[in-house]
Amino acid sequence: MKVDSLAALSEKLKIKYSLNEPMALHTSFKIGGAADIFLCPESEKQLAEILKVAKENSIPCFILGKGSNLLVSDSGIEGAVISTLSMQQIILVNEDVIMAEAGASLASVCRFARDNGLTGLEFAYGIPASVGGALYMNAGAYGGDMSMVVKKATSLTGDLTSICRNTAEMNLGYRKSIYEENSEIITSVVFKLELGDKEKISEEMETIMAKRKKSQPLEFPSAGSTFKRPEGCYAAALIDECGLKGLSVGGAEVSQKHAGFVINKGRATCSDVLALIGKIKAIVKEKRSVNLETEVIHIGR
Ligand SMILES: Cc1cc2nc3c(=O)[nH]c(=O)nc-3n(C[C@H](O)[C@H](O)[C@H](O)COP(=O)(O)OP(=O)(O)OC[C@H]3O[C@@H](n4cnc5c(N)ncnc54)[C@H](O)[C@@H]3O)c2cc1C
Repeated sequence: MKVDSLAALSEKLKIKYSLNEPMALHTSFKIGGAADIFLCPESEKQLAEILKVAKENSIPCFILGKGSNLLVSDSGIEGAVISTLSMQQIILVNEDVIMAEAGASLASVCRFARDNGLTGLEFAYGIPASVGGALYMNAGAYGGDMSMVVKKATSLTGDLTSICRNTAEMNLGYRKSIYEENSEIITSVVFKLELGDKEKISEEMETIMAKRKKSQPLEFPSAGSTFKRPEGCYAAALIDECGLKGLSVGGAEVSQKHAGFVINKGRATCSDVLALIGKIKAIVKEKRSVNLETEVIHIGR
């Protein structure tokens, strides 16, 4: 089998890995067939070793953060899925600067900032992302996004050189970044925050979390907002106005609580979700003349 070379490398370097790993275990949608090999490097060096061997053996690689914006095919992913989640160090570089490895959860960075009396990241509390995935998507909520708090980031280029980009070089826009275009792998991110009051920061984080719990169907697996925000309106409002709350295909359903979320009511397949997305798009196009663009990333065989 093609991925034998990666299994052998992992044995040699003691990198945690598994074969035929179900992706449903690693995505917030709890959907997705098996990846041929799933690897968990603990450092940039191990990551680079994996990428080198994969390249030599023409094995396709997919970089996985928290899997909270992904819809993985029922037939899985060919080649290697490399999880960043074992690279999760967070350090205070100086009084208002934090460095976090790509696999650190955004929530841990928010808590770390709060504990050090640093304000600016409160908006991100509750986005179930890894730091790398959040920068890749320029994740945002409640008036903030990553472009407002990130100062620079380190990434591995296609020829496995480690480079550092400042924010201006990242082309950060609405749910997009340069990393979508250049396939670089983010390994760490530096945040520049402001000194603030711990109590106030904490209160703001709790307020934001309470808003999320009230408005989002967090009790069901999903990948967050299914669609990007169209120009001048909200996808959820359009879907709701078209009377689509509760519309379902198999185990996939438009949430009754928040029409912008497609949820997995139990045993939903990737095909169910794709069919439901297709229906929503067609109805919204017909009734409101708007082309909805999917925010959730569909990958796999
Ligand atoms: C309940 C819920 C609420 C959500 N709320 C929000 C919200 O308020 N705002 C918002 O913006 N999003 C939200 N999301 C969506 C999701 O959390 C974000 O898109 C997040 O940024 C994805 O991060 P991740 O680590 O899960 O990335 P993944 O889903 O694992 O990957 C997403 C993409 O990033 C790439 N990627 C991941 N890590 C790296 C890396 N280190 N280097 C290069 N590429 C990488 C992957 O290859 C993939 O293409 C929500 C999702 C859920 C389930």
